[in-house]
Amino acid sequence: MIECSKCKSPDVKRHAVRKNNSGEKEVFKCNECSKFFTPDDGFNRFRHSRDEIEIALKMRENNYSLAEVVEYLKDLYGLEVTRQSILYWERKFKEKNQR
Ligand SMILES: [Zn+2]
Repeated sequence: MIECSKCKSPDVKRHAVRKNNSGEKEVFKCNECSKFFTPDDGFNRFRHSRDEIEIALKMRENNYSLAEVVEYLKDLYGLEVTRQSILYWERKFKEKNQR
């Protein structure tokens, strides 16, 4: 089931199909909070791009601390990433790789 990425409401409707380099993406609009969003393909739910997550995870593999990763993403991309998100990504992608 598709739900709003912001307020988690299932009351959404398909808005458009957006084309980008990686193919087509469906865009939905939430009837609750009016936010536009793209349903997750495993990455979107994090509200961060694949690249950022990959960088963060790679840094963690190389034994950087959570604080260092947070700072790095902020300096380089101006991103506000919490330590919790990074831990979440780690858990999530470890699970995936073990399957
Ligand atoms: Zn919403």
